[in-house]
Amino acid sequence: MAYLSLTNIEKSYGQFRALDGVSLDMEEGEFVCFLGPSGCGKTSLLRIIAGLDRQSAGTVEIAGKDCSNAPPEQRDYGIVFQSYALFPNMTVARNVAYGLRSRDEGRVAEMLDLVGLPDLGDRYPGQLSGGQQQRIALARALAPSPRLLLLDEPLSALDARVRLTLRRQIRALHDRLGLTTIMVTHDQEEALTLADRIVVMNHGHIEQVATPAEIYARPASLFVAGFVGAMNILPATATGRGSVRLAGLELAGGQGFAEGEAVSLCWRPEDLTIDAAGELEALVESVEFLGPFHRATLRAGDLGCFAIDVGAERMRDLGLSGGSAVRIGLPVDRLRIFAGHPS
Ligand code: ATP
Repeated sequence: MAYLSLTNIEKSYGQFRALDGVSLDMEEGEFVCFLGPSGCGKTSLLRIIAGLDRQSAGTVEIAGKDCSNAPPEQRDYGIVFQSYALFPNMTVARNVAYGLRSRDEGRVAEMLDLVGLPDLGDRYPGQLSGGQQQRIALARALAPSPRLLLLDEPLSALDARVRLTLRRQIRALHDRLGLTTIMVTHDQEEALTLADRIVVMNHGHIEQVATPAEIYARPASLFVAGFVGAMNILPATATGRGSVRLAGLELAGGQGFAEGEAVSLCWRPEDLTIDAAGELEALVESVEFLGPFHRATLRAGDLGCFAIDVGAERMRDLGLSGGSAVRIGLPVDRLRIFAGHPS
C-alpha cells in the first residue's frame, strides 16, 4: 500500500489554476523530488500535503489515513523551508526542542549529533552560517521522529560547496532513519542525484514520474526532454510511413505520426557522433572546454545550432576548432521523437 496517496489534487487561486488534477502514489521509504520550473506548482503541492494550504479538490492520504481535511499536527511530518525559519531569539537547543512535547535535553543532544553539530546548542541562529542554520532546521524537523520529511528548496540559499555536502547529508539521514522524503527543487542536478523517483511538473500538472535514469534516457514529453539535462531539439516533419524528414534527410522513426506532421527530434549531445560516414554535414561554430569532455556548437543549414560532446582524447585526434567542417552521425536508436515543435 502506498504511504502517501494524492488523488486528483486541484488548487485554484481565484481564477488561476495552480494545480490541475495531480495524482501520485509514494511508497514508504522513498525519496521523491518535485522538479519543475518556477511557478509550476511544486510548493503549492507540498503545502497541501503538509496541510498548510487546503486543496480546492482531491484527497490526501498519509499512512492509510484520509488527511484531506486534517490539520498539520495530525499528519506526522517534519518540514524544512528554504529560509531556515529558525526562531532568532531562541538558542539552537531551544529551536531543536521546539517541536517536542517536553524539553528533552537528551533528544536535543541526539539531534545535534545527528546533523553533526553537537557543540552549537548554546548559540543563537544569527551566530551560525547558512549551512549550519539549515542543519539545525533539519534537526528541529526530525526531533519528534516524523515518518515523513518535507523539504521545500532547502538548499537553494546555500553556496555550491555547502549545498553539495548538505545534499549528501540529507540523503544519508533519509536512509539511516528510514524516512519517506519529498523535496521540492528546481535544480535538476539535485533531483537526479538525490531522488529514487522524480516527479517532473509543468503548469500545474505532472509530466512524468520515473527514476532519474529513466527520465534522462526516456523523457515522456517534449517538455521533459528539454527541461532535464542538455538536449538537442531539432525541427522535422513526419512522412507518415514510419520515417521523418530532417534537413533533406529521411531517417527511420516517427511511427504513428501523420504525413506532414511537425515533430521534434531529440538527441542528447553525448549521443551524436562525429563520423566521416555520418548523415549530416555541419560546421563547427565554437568549442567549449568542460574538463573531461568538450562541447562543440555546430550549425547545419536551416537546422540552426546544436551541440555535440566529444571526449578529450577524441578531441585531440580531431583537432576541431571554429570553422571546421564535419559530418555527424545521427543514431536512430538514441533518437526520441515528439509531436510539435517547442513553443
Ligand atoms: P517556485 O519554484 O518559483 O517556488 P513553484 O513551482 O513552487 O515555484 P508555486 O509556489 O506552487 O510554484 O506556485 C504555483 C503558481 O501559483 C504560481 O503561478 C504562483 O504565482 C501561484 N500562487 C501561489 N500561491 C499563490 C497565492 N497565495 N495566491 C495567488 N497565486 C498563488
